[in-house]
Amino acid sequence: MARALVVGGGIAGDTLALLLERDGWAVTVAEIAPAPRKGGQTVDMRGDSRAVLAQAGLLEQALGCLIPQAGAAWIDAGERRLAAMPVEAFDGRGLVSKEELLRTDLARIIHDAAGPGVTHRFGETVEALEDRGNRVLARFRTGGEEEFDLVVGADGAHSKVRALRFGPEEAYRRPLGLAHAWFTITEKPGTPGLDGWFLMHNAPGRRMVEARPGHPGQQEVGLTFAAETLPSRHDREAQIALLERTFADVGWRAKEFLAAAREADDFALDTFDQVHMQCWHEGRVVLLGDSAWSASPLSGLGTALALRGAAELAAALREHAQSVPAALAAFEAAMRPRVVSAQQLPPGRVAAAAPKTALGIWFNALVMRTLQARILRPVINRAFAGTEHGRTAENQSAQAKTAAVG
Ligand SMILES: Cc1cc2nc3c(=O)[nH]c(=O)nc-3n(C[C@H](O)[C@H](O)[C@H](O)COP(=O)(O)OP(=O)(O)OC[C@H]3O[C@@H](n4cnc5c(N)ncnc54)[C@H](O)[C@@H]3O)c2cc1C
Repeated sequence: MARALVVGGGIAGDTLALLLERDGWAVTVAEIAPAPRKGGQTVDMRGDSRAVLAQAGLLEQALGCLIPQAGAAWIDAGERRLAAMPVEAFDGRGLVSKEELLRTDLARIIHDAAGPGVTHRFGETVEALEDRGNRVLARFRTGGEEEFDLVVGADGAHSKVRALRFGPEEAYRRPLGLAHAWFTITEKPGTPGLDGWFLMHNAPGRRMVEARPGHPGQQEVGLTFAAETLPSRHDREAQIALLERTFADVGWRAKEFLAAAREADDFALDTFDQVHMQCWHEGRVVLLGDSAWSASPLSGLGTALALRGAAELAAALREHAQSVPAALAAFEAAMRPRVVSAQQLPPGRVAAAAPKTALGIWFNALVMRTLQARILRPVINRAFAGTEHGRTAENQSAQAKTAAVG
């Protein structure tokens, strides 16, 4: 039986593990976190995500976890609306859709679908990879070494497998100039409700505070700001201190969110980066998902690409069952055009996410209102109708926004 090591048990890694197991592989997933990772905001179920989940037989479960949403609104510090986009906007293809579930739920559904052919090792990673002819020897952090027919680096944008095999992150990382902290808060008596709305408050200086619906009684919070480098991911105190300095004079619920960031058990902070590589595979080692091609959260396509990539890799390995290297080349040929397209953010995308000035914030809201004017609707709806492979709502509206501005 062929053996695969998948490093990273996120959406990409766990989906691949599941699909390979169904094709008769024995799969080990080495995930550095001590348990399946929780957290993350909503994931759009349209396009590639829907198609791959349907193919994997998981669509019904995913649709059973949809988060009821009313739409997105841009608000001022006093929570007065500057602009709003209900879920019905643009024939249901607006910024927020009716078909979104939390990343946590999607990851759990995929993880739980694995059978006995998949072994998860939590708190584990690889320390070294060595070619041994038609096998790769992996040395594990917790000791021990094993040989595999295939090693997959599905360990996210800061991939260890990429560093081991292809060199340091700096060679591949393209920062977009923004950073984003995200975490879950539990509503207490007195916590302002959202009524299903994704609320965004922009402050001058490229700062944005947002809250969107989560599980009942919870809200998913985000703080976006200008940064290309951050304190160490292991230094929570320094991360929180940076957020406190950056958002000290921001209104709306910024203070409440800063206090909650200290307590949240799913707090995460990272830069908005893209990963660009000439080649994702070497010998029997291949990268998958954000480790290979992160298009950044601003693309709105991270999960769709991870799911599609896992399906393409499994299909290539099935088709080229006699040669892993040939399968990896076929996978890359199939996947690269999608990735190239997803990485092309519309001009002005970063500036539109977090405008620099008060005038920019006002203008942004004006554009969002204008786009939905009755007279423009047929044009915009036509523009959205032609989008490819599940480009998600966030990006579609960004494209339309840019088109309107330009
Ligand atoms: C907890 C979490 C929350 C997220 N929230 C959002 C969000 O709100 N919005 C958004 O746009 N994107 C979010 N993302 C990113 C999004 O999930 C990905 O862009 C997309 O799904 C592609 O997934 P991936 O599996 O390639 O990478 P990831 O989802 O990043 O998964 C990588 C996995 O590898 C593990 N890992 C990392 N390093 C190692 C290592 N050295 N050894 C072993 N395992 C390792 C990680 O713990 C993680 O489980 C989140 C990711 C995570 C992990």
